[in-house]
This record gives sequence, structure tokens and C-alpha cells, in this order.
Amino acid sequence: MKRRSFIKAAAVGGASVSAAPALSQGLIEWRMVTSWPKGLPGLGTGAERLAANITAMSNGRLTIKVYAAGELVPAFGCFDAVANGTAQMSHDAAYYHNGKSEGCPFFTAFPFGFTAGEIEGWVKYGNGQKLWDELYLPFGIRGFLAGNTGTQMLGWFKKEIHSVADLNGLKFRAPGNQGKILQKLGVTPVTLPGGEIFPALQSGAIDAAEWIGPYNDLALGFYQVCKYYYSHGYHEPGPALQLMINEQAWQSLPKDLQAIITTAAEAANRDILAEYNARSGPALRTLVENHGVLVRGLPEDVLIACGEKANEVLNEIHAGDTTPNKIVKRIVEDFLAFRADVVPWTRIGEQAYLNARRLPFEFKLKA
Ligand code: CA
Repeated sequence: MKRRSFIKAAAVGGASVSAAPALSQGLIEWRMVTSWPKGLPGLGTGAERLAANITAMSNGRLTIKVYAAGELVPAFGCFDAVANGTAQMSHDAAYYHNGKSEGCPFFTAFPFGFTAGEIEGWVKYGNGQKLWDELYLPFGIRGFLAGNTGTQMLGWFKKEIHSVADLNGLKFRAPGNQGKILQKLGVTPVTLPGGEIFPALQSGAIDAAEWIGPYNDLALGFYQVCKYYYSHGYHEPGPALQLMINEQAWQSLPKDLQAIITTAAEAANRDILAEYNARSGPALRTLVENHGVLVRGLPEDVLIACGEKANEVLNEIHAGDTTPNKIVKRIVEDFLAFRADVVPWTRIGEQAYLNARRLPFEFKLKA
């Protein structure tokens, strides 16, 4: 919009555009591919806001055209599209690309890993960004945090889970490392883009599915097929979304546009989380009160079994690193080191408070 009005103003030679760059300096137009269904609340609309912010902050010098999943490349095609320059940037989740490197998922979420606040701390003020750059730059890409959904739900089930044995034989839409963990417990993991989960549940191609949380899961209608909605989203306790940028395109930008992008990405990181924080509660209420969804939590012994398998997967990733510079090994080790520093604090800080809020006490106005 801004760009169009700027071009129009420039064409009529208005004096009011003197602060804007001359057309001869070149307006830049970039493509942003995403992994999200068009207009999907939170992820899709968050990516669109991020793009619009970059356009607005640059006064139209850098405009971003956003493509939903499948419009330019498939949902899981962002990594290749940005690496080969089909798009200059993308918005998706790093863990979709564990086929490129087992280091990728650590920049989304590792099971029993970081909350939204913790991963932000690791990437920005720990060694996270440095390791991430080292991981991605050989592919000609750089990555930035650009959103978070907050703690997700474990997923939707047609039957209750009372024990580890109840997981056995389930075809479960669970991507990445969560899929590997569940596979060790007898599950057949399936990876599907968000837009393909509902038909797969409906046809019986899969028995269970995780996607995000109440806000998005309500919109996709999973409650129409599955009655049980399980918490203890240990697999994605604070999954980060990423903005990937083609390195050559990045280097072609002046410093101010680079700063605009990094600042817009930081803003998106908080903006998207804020939207999930605001919308998830009312969506959960709608699911329970209007659609009769039954909310459950995993039994403790099932959680412990999942944790033990998560540790096995972590060790396999660490031992399986064949890169010459041992980047994956170093990411795993740094993830564990930061976790060891942050968890004791979270436990006596935020977690202690959250536990206190569960005590039988409630605010009530007297009048
Ligand atoms: Ca998920």
C-alpha cells in the first residue's frame, strides 16, 4: 500500500516525498514464503504483520510479498526456497528441516527443553544465535527468532491414554524429534503440514495429531473428529518460529534495512506470542463448553517414559554428528549447558509462582 502511494506521489513529482528515496535508488521487493495456510490466525497473520512492519519501517524501500504454503513452494519447502533464492526470506519453524541438519530443531524446540522466554534468552544472550549462524551459513541462509506459540498441547486423541501401552500402534501426526520419541514407544509417527491434518484424522489415515494449541486447533476443527485433548506439551514447551533470509540477499542490503529486519523480527517474536497468550484461553473455553472436548493430562509414568526416550534421542543426535566442525554436537552441549543454568532459576521463579496460583484461592469482588 505504502509503496503504491509512494510511487504515485513520486510520479506526480510532489514535494512532500523529498524524505523518501528517489526511485532511481531502487525500491527492493522481496518474497517471503511461509509454511502456513493462508490467513491462519497467529502464524499466517503474524508473518503478514512482520512483512508489513518491514515495509512500513523502511518507508516502502523494502516491500515484502507474503506467500502462503503451496502458493510458491510447498509448506516444507522454505529452507530450499531461501537457500536457492526462489524467495529472499521465509517464515516457518526450523524443526521442519531436521533432514538438513539435526541441529535445526534446537532453534524451534527440543522436547523437555526451553519455554518461550528461555529460548529467547539462549538465542539472544546465550550462545544460541552464534551457533545458529554457524549452522545455517554453509547453506547460504541466516535465521532469526520471529515468533513463538507458547506451550503447545500434546495433541488430539480418539481414545484416552492411561498407560504407555495405549500409545502402541497409534498413527500420530508428530513431526521431528517428538516423532522419534513416540516411535520408541510403539507409535508410527507421521509428518503432515497443518492444512492436511484434519482430512487425515477424518479419513482414519492417522489416529492422533498434534498441531499447536486451542487457538489454532479450534480453527482447524479437530474437535469434530477427536474428543480427547491432551496437555503436557513437553514436546514443544515454547516453540520458536524463524525468519530465514538468503545470505546473498542479506549482504546486498544497506545496514539500516538490515537493522529494520532484525528489529521487526524481534517485534514479531513478542507479537505472535502475545496473540497466542490472548486468544488461547477463550478458544479453550469454546472447545470445552461449546464442543464438549475433554481435556486430559498424560499420566506421570507416561511422561517419564517420554522423557527417557527424549534423552535417548538427544544422545543419538549428539553421537550421530558427522560434520567436520562438530556443530551439531556443540549445539546439543550448549543447549544442555544453558538448560542447566536456566532451569533452577525458572523453578524457583516462574514455576514456583505458577504452582502457587494453583492453590485453592480465587479473586472475588465483594460488590
Ligand atoms: Ca506443534
